[in-house]
Amino acid sequence: MYDFIIVGGGIGGVCSAVTLSQKYKTLLIEKEPHLGGCSGTFTRGKYSYNIGATTFAMYQEGQVMKKFFDANKLSFDFMKLDIPISVIINQKTIHRYSNLERFITHINEVFPHNSHQRFWNDIFTLAQSFYKQYDVYYNKSNLFELSKTLFSFGKQFISFASPILKNANTTLLSYYGENIDKDFIEFIDNQLLIVAQTHLKNTNFLTLALALSYPFYDNFYIEGGMGKIFDVIKEKAGEIHTKEEFITAVENNGTYKVYTTKDVYETKKIVFNTTYQNNIKEKNHLTQSAFVLYLTLKSEKEFHHHYQIIQEKVFNNTISKSIFVSFSHKDDTIMAPIGEYSVTISIHTDTTFWDRLTKEEYRQKKETLQKEIITLFCNTLKIDTKDIINSFGATPNTFGRYIKRRALGGMHLEFKNYFLKFGSPKVGDFYYCGDNIFPAQGWAGVVAGVVNMEKVIDASFKN
Ligand SMILES: Cc1cc2nc3c(=O)[nH]c(=O)nc-3n(C[C@H](O)[C@H](O)[C@H](O)COP(=O)(O)OP(=O)(O)OC[C@H]3O[C@@H](n4cnc5c(N)ncnc54)[C@H](O)[C@@H]3O)c2cc1C
Repeated sequence: MYDFIIVGGGIGGVCSAVTLSQKYKTLLIEKEPHLGGCSGTFTRGKYSYNIGATTFAMYQEGQVMKKFFDANKLSFDFMKLDIPISVIINQKTIHRYSNLERFITHINEVFPHNSHQRFWNDIFTLAQSFYKQYDVYYNKSNLFELSKTLFSFGKQFISFASPILKNANTTLLSYYGENIDKDFIEFIDNQLLIVAQTHLKNTNFLTLALALSYPFYDNFYIEGGMGKIFDVIKEKAGEIHTKEEFITAVENNGTYKVYTTKDVYETKKIVFNTTYQNNIKEKNHLTQSAFVLYLTLKSEKEFHHHYQIIQEKVFNNTISKSIFVSFSHKDDTIMAPIGEYSVTISIHTDTTFWDRLTKEEYRQKKETLQKEIITLFCNTLKIDTKDIINSFGATPNTFGRYIKRRALGGMHLEFKNYFLKFGSPKVGDFYYCGDNIFPAQGWAGVVAGVVNMEKVIDASFKN
């Protein structure tokens, strides 16, 4: 009999297994051969590719993720980036230097304006103060827990009422005025989109400040791919079964029988790194997702690790004007041989664009989008298409097939979604983690959700 079975080996599942396995008898079940979910790495022939996530940010003293890793004696030796991302729009390149002063000087050169100093200092100060006070308890499993949650959020709300209530777009324009270069607004809006999954008009100023500030925190390149992080973490994650899929859980006198593709187990509790019976995304009709293009490039050139390239119009069958491009390091021979790069390019799409298509329609849509992406990528970075050794794409359907989710990325952090629409880390006897449930995404967001779920588990064991 296990105390906890953890279903799914994404960031949420693996990090939950790390903490729970120290106190309880646990088993983590992952359907794929490798851990990582959207943040893993896969291999095809002699090349490796990052599945989705490519940036490892906010791993820094005082931040939730660093505290979590330190507390669990997980240490890494990663390569810090001076320029976490470069954004290209209309032949202008904005390097998001991690050094704030350097960045302000640089952005003033690209978009000269006397408000930069005040704006960028204000947003970073706001982000720092938010993270300093960050201590949330979040659980909507019953009225008592909801009132504890409201109290916890209330404290945060009182401290940050003004930036929470102010619209991001209006506040941005109050700094820069209506006549600001429209490329600057596009740059800000597209940077916001990749972190908060939404646009300036739909969100508040606090969300904008947090989204724009991430490059000012430590960002790292992970040699050998993002999956390498899981190789370290899994050593402390207790018993793990890969290539085994959870099918169902049946209650049996206060405990559960868990049926998988390989066996039947008994457990007292279950943690889901999936939305099983907590279909918050489906309830809210959330269909935002990603199209990802993987390619190998032969080139002697040197590239930054991350680019966001913005074009004038929204790509067909997507909901975005920008692609997020990540290159492997030129000396990272685990990802690609010397002289070649492994590249992951992603763009926001919607699951509905890929629904109810004939095989031929689906193939054509995929091919057209791949071509559009490759054209922008090659034209912008001055790459000859002949140097692309191979390329293949993944639609929401591909993700659905492999990791069993078609809607990807975190919740949209928008006014209409706040609070009551988010999932609960506990529903009945089941616990939940991952970006489907906790209102934050990526490494930092999902780890924050696991820390919260731990508090919920501790509280429910006390009661
Ligand atoms: C294209 C893209 C780019 C991104 N870029 C970044 C980035 O640069 N940096 C960043 O920090 N974040 C990024 N993110 C976000 C980040 O990848 C996610 O927020 C995070 O990986 C989600 O983790 P999760 O714990 O919710 O689990 P998921 O990644 O959803 O993993 C769930 C796991 O459960 C397994 N599973 C599902 N059903 C079953 C079952 N029945 N039985 C057993 N196992 C099952 C799946 O195989 C999977 O391994 C990106 C996301 C996408 C899609």
